[in-house]
Amino acid sequence: MELPLTGGCLCGKVRYVINALPVDTAICHCRTCQKAVGAPHFATLFVPASALEVTGEYKEFASLADSGNTMYRAFCPVCGTSLFGRNSKFTGVRPVSAVTLDDPGWYKPDKDIWVSSAQPWDVMDPQRGKFSGNPWK
Ligand SMILES: [Zn+2]
Ligand SMILES: [Zn+2]
Repeated sequence: MELPLTGGCLCGKVRYVINALPVDTAICHCRTCQKAVGAPHFATLFVPASALEVTGEYKEFASLADSGNTMYRAFCPVCGTSLFGRNSKFTGVRPVSAVTLDDPGWYKPDKDIWVSSAQPWDVMDPQRGKFSGNPWK
């Protein structure tokens, strides 16, 4: 992996640059992520908020998380790609969708979270740590 990390949405209107190494990685199986990304899970990397630079206009969808915090999920209003988010409490880090990186091949998820909501047909690597809910509350 080489810095900066770069990525963007399907149509290319929203692009981002990340100037720091990820501080954590996780695959989230919560129902909100499933619906938001249109897939059985959301593979995310967490980066320092100050390291994420975005160009292009995006929209955010706000939802109340189980923790009581508000989660804002950013997506491209043109092509609908889910890109990154922000949490009302944990403002120092931002989750970014691993598959929107220009080169997602280096990505290694550290853990599975919200496995209590995982789809029975979604196969998980047994080597990864498992959390039934949110490990960061
Ligand atoms: Zn787009
Ligand atoms: Zn989730």
